[in-house]
Amino acid sequence: MSRPGGNALNLSDQQVDIIATRLAERFSTQPVIKTTIAAPRSAPIIVPRVVSRSVLHVTPHINLGEGVFASVDDAVAAAGVAFRELDGMSLAGRQKIIASIRASMLEHAEELAVHAHRETGLGRVEHKLIKNRLVASKTAGTEVLTSHAVTGDHGLTLIEYAPFGVIGAITPTTNPTSTIICNTIAMLAAGNSVVFNVHPSTRECSMANIRLLHHAIIRGGGPANLVTAVAEPTIESAQTLMGHKGIRLLAVTGGSGVVRQAMCSGKRAICAGPGNPPVVVDATADLEHAARGIIAGASFDNNIVCVDEKEVIAVDCIVEELLQQMGRNGAYLLTTGELQRVEEAIFSEQRGPRQRAVVEKDLIGKNASEILARAGISCSGDPRLLVAHVTNDHPLIWIEQMMPVLPVTSVPDVEQAIELAKEAEHGFGHSAGMYSRDIDALSRMARTINTSIFTKNGSFYAGLGEGGEGHTSFTIASPTGEGLTGPISFSRLRRCVMVDHFRII
Ligand code: NAD
Repeated sequence: MSRPGGNALNLSDQQVDIIATRLAERFSTQPVIKTTIAAPRSAPIIVPRVVSRSVLHVTPHINLGEGVFASVDDAVAAAGVAFRELDGMSLAGRQKIIASIRASMLEHAEELAVHAHRETGLGRVEHKLIKNRLVASKTAGTEVLTSHAVTGDHGLTLIEYAPFGVIGAITPTTNPTSTIICNTIAMLAAGNSVVFNVHPSTRECSMANIRLLHHAIIRGGGPANLVTAVAEPTIESAQTLMGHKGIRLLAVTGGSGVVRQAMCSGKRAICAGPGNPPVVVDATADLEHAARGIIAGASFDNNIVCVDEKEVIAVDCIVEELLQQMGRNGAYLLTTGELQRVEEAIFSEQRGPRQRAVVEKDLIGKNASEILARAGISCSGDPRLLVAHVTNDHPLIWIEQMMPVLPVTSVPDVEQAIELAKEAEHGFGHSAGMYSRDIDALSRMARTINTSIFTKNGSFYAGLGEGGEGHTSFTIASPTGEGLTGPISFSRLRRCVMVDHFRII
């Protein structure tokens, strides 16, 4: 059994570093090659195939400085000083800081992707690179903070977006650097500073990210410590941050436990919790397009992204053809016998029909080939996704598996498909989607499922702005209702009233 963060060849960390350094040297002179993987026609996903030129090592110790602090108290105090300095700056100054952050994060997107993959062992480097680039370029900035004016016989009222102050942010293992980059841009654009308490198993890549942000902010003319972090983050330090009197607002991104904790903190909390996104395919859908889109979405970063497709509910009359199309477009279709062996590998405990099984933690985010190997199934090549035809009750339909094993089930008609999708989503209100050409059915599902993101006829990452329109966010706050968070979510509204004057007509 490989340990979390380990590798299939059982190489030592030193051996991995030597190989990584050689790879970096070898690729450093080669141009970036771009290719398209199994993606839907409407939402191509560009996969850069190079390895980083620079940082491919993991620092053994976390040094303090450059935004990294020993305690929550120190990190909050420094971020408090920085907030007051930012508050005194012009909007143009704030925009210069954001521009510098975007440029730096694009420059370092690849090394951060390699670092996060190396440390967590989750997902795929090329997809982490896409996520880092996406948040660096498409997270909303100050441009969305449009003030409102109301005029009438009694004068002028102005409503503006103001900062809260110091925000406490808690980040997940699944998108460690992309969440930090995205939160930083949105929170600073709104005029706040931020203290991060990251997931302990992402400490090193996160601290590297904080240091890069620190330097980018200073290069952009901003104060030191606008972005700070706790050097040795733990659950306890996360809870200390949640209760700290210097923190004005919380933004937590993770599973149900941290969301519950933040909601009990007594502070205003923006909570981005778990999901179990269903995709419905009806009889009117373009099945080849659906198969390609579902494969690209469900295999994105090995299914660890919270919006990734987690279960497919098709109507009976097209399910066989959909499965065939998935097989033709690169998915590995599991036989009944193989599914049993995969279940034994991926579940440490099954709790019966329609219940959430317990998944083997060390297979979360792993490549499909590693899961097959663990199940004792030989396979050539590197399939992106394992697909299993299952009954409606199968535990894979009911859990957020976060591994590239996708269940496909079927029901007699589209109404029942929408109902089952709603049940399987567990009321998280996170993400869902549908492949159909029936606009009535698409509208019915969108209304019924009631999720923060609903994607029609495309991979679910299109809902994050990757191959779809709109800003991106990696903190999708469904429990507290902000949806894809951005600068407005991290702002408070202030009103300024001029009585009886300044209506100019
Ligand atoms: P996790 O809940 O284990 O950890 C998330 C963060 O919360 C970590 O920093 C962790 O240290 C902290 N934490 C956990 N329990 C805590 C507690 N009781 N008190 C204080 N802090 C606590 O989640 P994960 O495994 O890192 O991430 C995967 C989960 O996050 C999935 O459920 C996924 O759907 C969800 N997620 C949601 C979004 C979104 O935008 N809605 C984005 C990414 C991940």
